Amino acid sequence: MRLFTACLAHESSSFSPIPTNMENFRDAMLHRPSRGETVKGRFKSIECALTAKGHDRGHDIVESVGAVAMPSGPLARTDYEELRDEIVNDLRLAMPVDAVALFLHGAQLAQGYDDCEGDLLAALRAVTGPDIPIGVEIDLHGNVTEAMTRNATAIIACKEYPHTDFLERADELLDILEATVAGRARPVMAVCKLPMTGIFHTTRQPLRGIVDGLFELEQRPGVLSVSIAHGFPWHDTPHVGVAVIVVSDGDEPLARTLADEVGAQVFAVREQIAAPRTSLEEALAQAAGLNSGMAIIADTADNAGGGAASDSTFFLHELIRMEAQDAAVGMIWDPVAVDIAFTAGVGATLAMRIGGKTSVLSGPPVDAEFKVMALTPRLGQTAFGFYRIVGRAARLRTGGIDVVLIESREQVHSPECFEELGVDLASTRILVVKSAQHFHARFKPLAEKIIYAVAPGATSVDFTTFDYARLVRPIWPLDPEAAFPSTPGPR
Ligand SMILES: [Zn+2]
Repeated sequence: MRLFTACLAHESSSFSPIPTNMENFRDAMLHRPSRGETVKGRFKSIECALTAKGHDRGHDIVESVGAVAMPSGPLARTDYEELRDEIVNDLRLAMPVDAVALFLHGAQLAQGYDDCEGDLLAALRAVTGPDIPIGVEIDLHGNVTEAMTRNATAIIACKEYPHTDFLERADELLDILEATVAGRARPVMAVCKLPMTGIFHTTRQPLRGIVDGLFELEQRPGVLSVSIAHGFPWHDTPHVGVAVIVVSDGDEPLARTLADEVGAQVFAVREQIAAPRTSLEEALAQAAGLNSGMAIIADTADNAGGGAASDSTFFLHELIRMEAQDAAVGMIWDPVAVDIAFTAGVGATLAMRIGGKTSVLSGPPVDAEFKVMALTPRLGQTAFGFYRIVGRAARLRTGGIDVVLIESREQVHSPECFEELGVDLASTRILVVKSAQHFHARFKPLAEKIIYAVAPGATSVDFTTFDYARLVRPIWPLDPEAAFPSTPGPR
């Protein structure tokens, strides 16, 4: 079939202190075939999977924009409109096509747009007309909107957090599109939106069991896909919330019934599936009390992967105060300190000021004497199954604490980002990672204990710390009285 593909993916936070423009896409990934620009940036990965797999399956691919940026604040309005219009224009020129396959995040904001995915899909639907299937793969942290479901034929969210299944979901989306174009399937979608928000780990029960149940539901006759979009809590828009998405083969009542059933299942266990919230003090006490092995403390509130700065110092201050030994912290975003470390060179000892720069949520900087232990021009790590370059990085040491500093903002995904700088994780007792959950896939085998901690930060799961004005209320957990089924609102 003749398949049009594009990727526009940015997780935008209403509460991020980091603004976003086209340069952030150039840094991560920006591919503009119709302008003759090849892939640039540090990411060349999962987001292009639909295009690569489409080629492998022998389809005639018309590839449009591939654009990804690190999570941060809403994209500048004109930059979003430029990317959107380029995709829409590429599709117009590519017509007639048999199908459209898109990788979108689901939580993208731009200045003046609180639903970029819905806006883009509406513009693409206007070009294709009603009959050409538009399939969309999203990150499960997308807030699924009415405009998205109205204009897409099938939306599939990844099922796992950490997101280990993007590639499998891309195959499923292509299966559905192929069957639709061949006349073997007629996708019908139903979405059940829940009045709840939060961060939910699929690695823990009872959500693990619910996600396993989705695979069983997909074995039923007439069911093409069932996924749960957890939503993105750090949006101040009316679209925030968990959504169950069911794609059936021509059976709207079946899709609706299953979506509502799974929705009721998720809502019933909301208290149990919410991410743990251990305080900084309690997390460090638990880690220090471990007799053997490594305690990993996730500094969940300062996760660059959710739009936080990744330069907060709350844990580093406390580790220094308690004179921690065999401890390591990473990755702290501090381009100035990285530059100073490179100038000083490996082996140099000097007074330095670390972190605490971006906003009040970053805390005060750390002033201490540090030894430059290691430097690398190209720190890398494995993220979503692909080795990705983070960039220039330095390992500094003060007392018994190693600190990994980076020049380009990125969350911790895998041990390489410590090991490539010589941090010996086998002898590390306390490891603080700036990540909410993606670290889990690769660090779990190394950890005696994993502690999800909440210090201040732009990705705190203490949602009372954010000044929401546009959420549809009531919404759990801010409003404990939120009930399901709720009256349908504009979520
Ligand atoms: Zn996500």
